[in-house]
Amino acid sequence: MTFKAEYIWIDGTEPTAKLRSKTKIITDAPAGLGALPVWGFDGSSTNQAEGSSSDCVLKPVFSCPDPIRGGDDVLVLCEVLDTDLVPHPSNTRAALAETAERFAAQEPVFGIEQEYTFFKGARPLGFPEGGFPAAQGGYYCGVGSDEIFGRDVVEAHLENCLGAGLGISGINAEVMPGQWEFQVGPLPPLEVSDQLWIARWLLYRTAEDFGVSATLDPKPVKGDWNGAGAHTNFSTRAMREGPEGYAAVVTAAESLGEGSKPLDHVKNYGAGIDDRLTGLHETAPWNEYSYGVSDRGASVRIPWQVEKDGKGYLEDRRPNANVDPYVVTRLLVDTCCTALEK
Ligand code: ADP
Ligand code: MN
Ligand code: MN
Ligand code: MN
Ligand code: MN
Repeated sequence: MTFKAEYIWIDGTEPTAKLRSKTKIITDAPAGLGALPVWGFDGSSTNQAEGSSSDCVLKPVFSCPDPIRGGDDVLVLCEVLDTDLVPHPSNTRAALAETAERFAAQEPVFGIEQEYTFFKGARPLGFPEGGFPAAQGGYYCGVGSDEIFGRDVVEAHLENCLGAGLGISGINAEVMPGQWEFQVGPLPPLEVSDQLWIARWLLYRTAEDFGVSATLDPKPVKGDWNGAGAHTNFSTRAMREGPEGYAAVVTAAESLGEGSKPLDHVKNYGAGIDDRLTGLHETAPWNEYSYGVSDRGASVRIPWQVEKDGKGYLEDRRPNANVDPYVVTRLLVDTCCTALEK
């Protein structure tokens, strides 16, 4: 069989990494991840190497059907390695793989709410040239051409995610015009993170065909406009299953507030986090940890249904839209599963 494989990787751009991809024609190979060879790229063009020793290695770690090309073609997410085959410093997946393995017995799962903003040229989609739209209020989960901008792109992206077999659990229009959300999960840490990176790639790629760009900028418009986050919903088996479920949810929420944990987490939750976590626009201040039931002004929210059922999950509302899912899931598993182990 001959097919096209789109090799996708995460580059070394600071402070927020970008996705890159290129196409490999695979000939006479069976389908499946095992048949996809290791490949390479010019790391000097991606902030991952010096020109004098520029080669970096692409190691396939996840593949799925390519919903855009169709047929037997595939998308291939890769880890970046040095030429001695050790994880490159920009490779945050390798560390998550170790942590996920260490705490696998607790069966951690995540649902990540990815918010993003469409741009047409220099303006968010729906913002008039040189002015501002009506103030926020009617846009969230709105309907109608006075409130909704880019639904055709959003629907095409959703179809592509489903076609790729990703665990998308929903979509919604957000509080600022041109701003949207999709959710991936619940899935284990490596799976949710790999699939979120592929869903992001599909978002950019889908929007390309509409002449629109998408950004994960956490505060794309300064002032009285909502930022873009990546609320990270988390549970372990002990949290999901009664009768001690609610106590485990509280233990996890408490553990995130201990000692240096609030800052350890927040400084790794995406560049520009203090611009978004101001205490306004449904956020808690970045330097004050809090948790509460139903509280969208807290760092961590316990959904009301979880309190009612006496089991379930918590929502870490702090991560920015531009967070690295390999990092946020690693930190949450590490902090909460260590506390729950005791
Ligand atoms: P919100 O009310 O904050 O907007 P969403 O419905 O957008 O919530 O997202 C909630 C996410 O949490 C979904 O991806 C959902 O699949 C996920 N989720 C549900 N139950 C659990 C659980 N037990 N553990 C982890 N994630 C969960
Ligand atoms: Mn070349
Ligand atoms: Mn949501
Ligand atoms: Mn949202
Ligand atoms: Mn949320």
